[in-house]
Amino acid sequence: AHHIAPLDASLLTIQRAETLKPIPEPGTYIFGSIKTDHMLIMTFDPIVGWSAPQIKPYGPLSLDPSSNCFQYCTNVFEGMKAILGPDGTPVLFRPEDNMRRLQSSAARMALPPFDEAALLACIKKLIMTEERWIPAPAGHSLYIRPTLIGTTPSIKVGASKHATLYALVTPVGPYFATATAGVSLLAVNEHVRSWPGGTGGFKLGLNYSPGFMPQQTAAALGYDQILWLIGENKLITEAGAMNFFAVVERDDGGLTIVTPPLDGTILPGIVRDSTLVLLRAHAADTSAKILNLPADKAVYVEERALSVNELAEWAKAGTLLECFGTGTAVLVVAIERIGDVVPDADGKVKKVRNIEMKAGKGLGPVGQAMWDKLLASKEG
Ligand code: PMP
Repeated sequence: AHHIAPLDASLLTIQRAETLKPIPEPGTYIFGSIKTDHMLIMTFDPIVGWSAPQIKPYGPLSLDPSSNCFQYCTNVFEGMKAILGPDGTPVLFRPEDNMRRLQSSAARMALPPFDEAALLACIKKLIMTEERWIPAPAGHSLYIRPTLIGTTPSIKVGASKHATLYALVTPVGPYFATATAGVSLLAVNEHVRSWPGGTGGFKLGLNYSPGFMPQQTAAALGYDQILWLIGENKLITEAGAMNFFAVVERDDGGLTIVTPPLDGTILPGIVRDSTLVLLRAHAADTSAKILNLPADKAVYVEERALSVNELAEWAKAGTLLECFGTGTAVLVVAIERIGDVVPDADGKVKKVRNIEMKAGKGLGPVGQAMWDKLLASKEG
C-alpha cells in the first residue's frame, strides 16, 4: 500500500478573521445557534490522505450536491465542552474519550480513521483561538462539535472514500430552561431509537433524526423529552440524548442505583462512565464520603436491563426515590416525572399514567451529590 498522509497537527495553519463578532450576553443564548469567529477544518482524500488542518474564519462549506453525506447520512459527531478553570484557562472534561468515541463512530460508518491525539491538539488550538467566547458564568460553557462527513461526490450506494472533518464551537447556557426543577419524559416504545445489533452505541447523525417526530408528539402531550424503550418488556435505553439512572430505596435502608448496560443499544456516555466510577468508589467505602451522602447509607450499583414497569412498581410501593439523566450538555438533570402509556382493560384505549419521584421534582440526594462532585471534578 502506498503512503497516505496522517492527520498532522504540526501542519495546522491559522487564518484569523479580519473583524471579530460581538459576543452576546450570557442568558440570551439559544442552544447551538451562535456562530463564533473561527472553525477548524481538514479533508481526507483516499490517495493523498489528510490535508493540513486549518483554523479559518467561520463560514459555509462548499460541497458537491451528490456528496455521500447528503444521500446516505455518512455523518458522525461528538459533543464536548470547554469551561474556564479556576485559574482562567480553558478546561476540557475527558476529551480523549470523545476522540475515541468519534473514531469508533467513524469506523462504524466506514469513514476514514484519524490520529486522535492530533485531532485533539487541533481542537485545543481552536479553543485557544476562540477563548474570548468561553462564557464565565456558572452553568455556561463553550460547546464543541467535532463533525466528520462523507464527501465522495457520487450517488452510488457505498462507503464514502473522501471526508471532511471540522469542528465548530458555540457558547451555551444551561441546556434545559427547567434544569433546577427537572425534565419530564414520555416513555415511548411505539417508535424505537435503537435495537440489538443496531447503531445506538455510536454517535451517528442518523440515530437522532428519526426521533424528531416522536419528540414533537411528546412535546404536544406536555413532556420535555422521550424515554426510549425497546420491546414488549419496555426496557429503558436512554432519556432523550442522556443516559438514564434510577435510585431505589431498599428494605435494609440502603440505596440501589440502576442504569441500563452498554449492550450496543445505548450511547456509552462519558458522564455516565464518570457517574458509575464515582458511585462504585463511594459504594466501596461510604465513610470516605466520595459523594456527599450519609455515611451510614449503603449504596449498591447495578448495570442491568431495567424496565419502565419496574419503575412503575417502585413508584407504587413508594421506593422510587429519584431518577436522573446524565450527559455533556446537562451534566446531571433531575427527571421529575415519567409518562407511561398503558392500555386499559380491553387493550385498546391507551392512557398516560405518570410515574412520580419520592424526592419530588428537583434533584434528589444522589443526583445532587453527583452534580456537586462532577462539577468539582470538571473544574478541578
Ligand atoms: N446518549 C445520547 C444519545 C447522547 O447523544 C449523549 C450525548 N453525547 C449521551 C447519551 C450522553 O453522553 P456523554 O455523557 O458522553 O455526553
